Amino acid sequence: MSNVPVAVVTGSNKGIGLAIVRALCKQFPGDVYLTSRDPSRGQAAVAQLQQEGLQPLFHQLDIDDLQSIRALRDFLKEKYGGLNVLVNNAGIAFKVNDTAPFEVQAEVTLKTNFFGTRNVCTELLPLMKPYGRVVNVSSMVSSSALGRCSQELQQKFRSDTITEDELVQLMTKFVEDTKKGVHEKEGWPNTAYGVSKIGVTVLSRIQARLLNEQRKGDHILLNACCPGWVRTDMAGPKATKSPDEGAETPVYLALLPSSADAPHGQYVSDKTVRPW
Ligand code: NAP
Repeated sequence: MSNVPVAVVTGSNKGIGLAIVRALCKQFPGDVYLTSRDPSRGQAAVAQLQQEGLQPLFHQLDIDDLQSIRALRDFLKEKYGGLNVLVNNAGIAFKVNDTAPFEVQAEVTLKTNFFGTRNVCTELLPLMKPYGRVVNVSSMVSSSALGRCSQELQQKFRSDTITEDELVQLMTKFVEDTKKGVHEKEGWPNTAYGVSKIGVTVLSRIQARLLNEQRKGDHILLNACCPGWVRTDMAGPKATKSPDEGAETPVYLALLPSSADAPHGQYVSDKTVRPW
């Protein structure tokens, strides 16, 4: 078994994820895994970074596929005995002019952004080594969408005692409410992406709390962040940041020094803790 530290970035064949891998290859003292659901897109991205003189490794990972997540989990357990850095970056967003019915957009978006990310956490968080760092890439849209939820929902999403099961029930209810055409009446904002990212931010707060309760002595730090508005296939060419600039806050959180005991359980943008 290798004692080399190991970092994994989900959805890193392009966009912000690829830029996070690039930065980690330069700054993280260990093996860095570029992962992609499609091996050929992943290998092409590895080749691109190799041309830049960097040495990322590759592993397939589709966060919608539990078998794929478990294959990565078993690989990391066997080869490294765990994991030092996990960046949950993979995500999707329908374009504003997409004509897919809202309930379809809700189901598909929540499936990857919330349930897929949660499944990765369920399988990989138990592998985190002491002083591990976990970064869940959320979005500023999570806080604007939170502000557009009913008071009752806002109270639940800001609660310091909400459980993972309760969060899963709420995310499931959102999808069901869109199918019944009652999501706005039930206090939800009209954004599937926004609700999925509320889920990612709240999940991070819950997971950090559980780490405090169950693994306090391991000094693991887990945070949600927004990369900013970044020029990628998702956000388009008008966005203000380059992918490398978008990677800065996730990479800062992934490389928090072992002496740090904060931030933890926070929502961070531009390397600054924001109110939730
Ligand atoms: P992007 O260029 O569209 O890249 C998204 C990445 O996620 C791609 O590698 C994609 O793989 C991967 N992915 C999607 N579904 C996946 C799945 N089921 N399993 C594994 N990988 C999957 O988008 P981006 O802008 O870099 O976004 C990265 C993250 O930042 C997302 O979580 C996004 O919500 C968040 N974010 C972006 C912005 C922005 O302005 N760009 C702002 C706030 C937050 P494929 O190539 O196979 O599709």
